[in-house]
Amino acid sequence: MTITLSQKVGEFASEFAIDGSYVQQGVKHFVDQTAQALSANMERAMPMIPSFVTRIPTGKEKGVQLAVDLGGTNFRVSSVHLNGDHTHKTVASKVAVSDDLMTGTQADFFGFLAQQVKDFLTEHHSEHFSQTEPLRMGVTFSFPVNQVALDKGYLLRWTKGYDIKDAVGKDVVELFQIQLDALDLNVKIVALVNDTVGTLLARAYASKSDDGKHKQTLIGAIFGTGTNGAYSERLKRVPKFTAANYPEVFKRYSPEHIANQTMIINTEWGSYDNDIDVLPNTKWDIDLDENTHNKSFHMFEKRISGMFLGELLRLCLLDLKSEGLLLQSTKLEGNPVWKGFGMDTSVLSFIEAATEAQIETGKGDYEKIIKAMGLAAKDITPEQVAALKPLVTAIGRRSAYLSAIPLAAITLHTHALEKFDVVDIGVDGSVFQFYPKFADMVKEAMGYVEGISVDRIDIGHAEDGSGVGAALAAYPDDS
Ligand code: ADP
Ligand code: MG
Repeated sequence: MTITLSQKVGEFASEFAIDGSYVQQGVKHFVDQTAQALSANMERAMPMIPSFVTRIPTGKEKGVQLAVDLGGTNFRVSSVHLNGDHTHKTVASKVAVSDDLMTGTQADFFGFLAQQVKDFLTEHHSEHFSQTEPLRMGVTFSFPVNQVALDKGYLLRWTKGYDIKDAVGKDVVELFQIQLDALDLNVKIVALVNDTVGTLLARAYASKSDDGKHKQTLIGAIFGTGTNGAYSERLKRVPKFTAANYPEVFKRYSPEHIANQTMIINTEWGSYDNDIDVLPNTKWDIDLDENTHNKSFHMFEKRISGMFLGELLRLCLLDLKSEGLLLQSTKLEGNPVWKGFGMDTSVLSFIEAATEAQIETGKGDYEKIIKAMGLAAKDITPEQVAALKPLVTAIGRRSAYLSAIPLAAITLHTHALEKFDVVDIGVDGSVFQFYPKFADMVKEAMGYVEGISVDRIDIGHAEDGSGVGAALAAYPDDS
């Protein structure tokens, strides 16, 4: 008996299946790992990095600051005018970072970034060049750093597509500042923040409490090229924040003062469960990991984020091809979408968004999908594309259910629902924003967790997280 494409797709999809009890188990493990990671730094645990950001915005902040954002895909420069009433105005420019720069030398890389800042100022703020006051700049840098001050952080390792070897172990603020100074820009980097920290800050600035409810922004989360999150923590609950680890801080403040401070912690939850104690681990997850720069790290991220969902689908489709069920006579060599990591996660979004009936017209949605897949009508029929949908749904749903784990776990770990009427979570990233029903699926999964009342949790897009957030981090702090 020969197996059909639909049957095989069903088999593959079942390997990605995930349910509420799994989420509950993952949350329990995440809470345990959080406590451990706050006690000591361990090579394979979540880094749980103190951000040195101790002030959560109120929405009343005012003034103009510069912000730059290095995400997984683009470099963005912006100037942010905070109006002091939860609103802001931003002027921004964006440029893609080439593969060559992502894997070249640090001097070329940071030199390129500095040149973008110069171009931006020339175009939008030429008045700056006649002023003596330096412009304060916040840098959003979405890679793991060992932060030792608000404006000092040593790169631990690259993630996503980056691999600039001579930057690892260095203070990225210093590397960048050298290049800004070389161009004589009179711009001073005052804050280095992770994009998740910026997302939390931006959401806190924009968020208003209604009907006298006590609402607190607790988490900033990213579901984009990668995934990560930051949350607000009492330093007394961070045993590894010791005088030995942070001598500069303990020279300036008393241990009591420090213990009572609240500081945003950058979890780097992409590294949750690197040892795969509870994470699902299909053959495609294993294959995918083999072809990454950071093998056996960021195992959580590799099941969730935009850089990887397209690749999981691609690997599944290649197996369908070798089983003779798909693309039998299509030559994929040399096709950029079919090289490793060549398939964008938007392919999944497009398939998810279209109904079978729409696809089967062979028009609109079908054409859009096969184009994104780098294929032509002769390679794959509308019926075949429609047949792939259960697999896509399973990969996307697994991603969303896994994404709920850190959000629920941190809400429980901080006892936030006992302290506030409403717990607010700001999220940024294309997967969260554009993957159909992603936010709904995340909330649905959180609903399975004991102790979580989803009706008292607000999850929403943090508008311009990395731009406004970095500007807020660069805001003068008098505390
Ligand atoms: P960054 O993480 O660099 O800040 P984004 O948040 O835009 O950037 O995320 C980019 C990632 O989002 C890419 O990996 C891409 O595959 C994925 N992506 C882009 N468009 C979509 C979409 N429509 N649906 C799902 N994922 C998408
Ligand atoms: Mg981003």
